[in-house]
Amino acid sequence: MTPFFPQSVSIREVGPRDGFQNEPEVIATEHKIELIDSLARTGIRRLEVTSLVRPDRIPQLADAERVLELMDVPDGVSVSVLVANERGLERALCHRAQIDQITVFLSASETHNARNVNRTVAESLAALQRVIEGARAAGLRCEGVISTAFGCPYEGRVEFTAVAEIALALAAAGAQEIALGDTTGMANPVQVLALLEHARDRLPEIQLTAHFHNTRGQGLANVLAAMGAGVDSFESSFGELGGCPVPAGATGNIATEDLVSMLSEMGIETGIDLPALIACSRHAQEILGRELGSHTLVAGPVDWRQ
Ligand code: ZN
Repeated sequence: MTPFFPQSVSIREVGPRDGFQNEPEVIATEHKIELIDSLARTGIRRLEVTSLVRPDRIPQLADAERVLELMDVPDGVSVSVLVANERGLERALCHRAQIDQITVFLSASETHNARNVNRTVAESLAALQRVIEGARAAGLRCEGVISTAFGCPYEGRVEFTAVAEIALALAAAGAQEIALGDTTGMANPVQVLALLEHARDRLPEIQLTAHFHNTRGQGLANVLAAMGAGVDSFESSFGELGGCPVPAGATGNIATEDLVSMLSEMGIETGIDLPALIACSRHAQEILGRELGSHTLVAGPVDWRQ
């Protein structure tokens, strides 16, 4: 049977949040603005620009408000910020004009959630329900990210039903989009197909997004499997920036340029100009002073010599 692939795919670039927060050095605000403004002009339609979490927890993003004030993102690009709790939502609402969406997050496994946000899953859900309700009342779109949905480095296997129950609770609170995160790169394509088909059946009205990490080099294979389950929405990070704060060493979102290259070679529309995106990653290399991990950044786009 020929697998079903979508005609177009929507990509959210999360590098300015997921990537910058995992850099060992704090990137200067002006450099963040240069990168965000250029990314916003690659044809990308969804951009996660920062995180409104406690600056003492994530000093790399302590300039979140400055970023929101200084960035110049064209109309038509949906801007989202990561919010951890009600305090984060209050901060987001102070910059309501710059923001289209908030993203809330929790982990599917108790141990990862406890280490990441120091709460039980039930406590996180209760708090996030209030955040989502407040955001929706202010007219913001809401996405709920479920981390460690495909496996937990502390607990091992995560039950599909546990992931689906969390997703249903977030959806019932008002989240219009649910992202399943392979936070530490444990997913394989067979598991991705099964979990996303299960999630698709349980959440027919919700936009389902897959957030894969390339920790073990299986990120794009997992994208292919997710598309086979009917998913047409992905999160990725230019330059393969990013990782996860816990455990240490859980590196690397899938690179947006590798994702765009694969999809465009498959004839799947993303709206993103690949050379412009590669230029952003090249600029990030200059700013960070080191080589970044994406393949397409090294090899360039496929050239068929037409
Ligand atoms: Zn990530």
